[in-house]
Amino acid sequence: MTAAEGSDALRWRDATRWDRVVFTAATPGHQQGAHPPAPSCQGIHSYLADGTQACWRPRVPGRFALDVERVTTPPPHVAARTTSGSFWDAWVVAEVVAKLTGTPILVLAAAGLPVDVPTGVDVVVQHHDGVVVGFGHRSDVVT
Ligand SMILES: [Zn+2]
Repeated sequence: MTAAEGSDALRWRDATRWDRVVFTAATPGHQQGAHPPAPSCQGIHSYLADGTQACWRPRVPGRFALDVERVTTPPPHVAARTTSGSFWDAWVVAEVVAKLTGTPILVLAAAGLPVDVPTGVDVVVQHHDGVVVGFGHRSDVVT
C-alpha cells in the first residue's frame, strides 16, 4: 500500500473507472449532449470539444471534478508553446484543479503548465479510446 492509498480513506480512487463514465453525443440542434433526465443527475459532467457529454458517477461521498479531452484535438496555440510533454495530460490536471479550487482555468493556465496540484486535491489521469480523462477529488472537504 502506498502513502497515497493510505490517505484515501473514502477509497475514491476505486471510483476512477472508465466504466463509470457515460458519454452522450450532442444531438442536432444542441451544442452539448445531455443524457436524460439531465436536471436530476448527480454525476460530474464534462464536455468534449464536439459537445459530447461525459458523466461520471463516483458513487462515494465527496467533492469531485472531471475533465475529458480528445487527444487528437490540437492544443490551443498559445498554450502549446509553453508546455512540454503531453499538453492534454497537463490540461486535464489544470482543469480539475481549477474546478476543485474555484480558480478560473485561464488564471491557472496563464502561469504555465503543468500546474502545481495543491495539498488536498488528488488527480488521476487515464487514457481510454483516444480520450484523456482527469478524475479529481478534494480530499480536505468532507461532504
Ligand atoms: Zn450526468
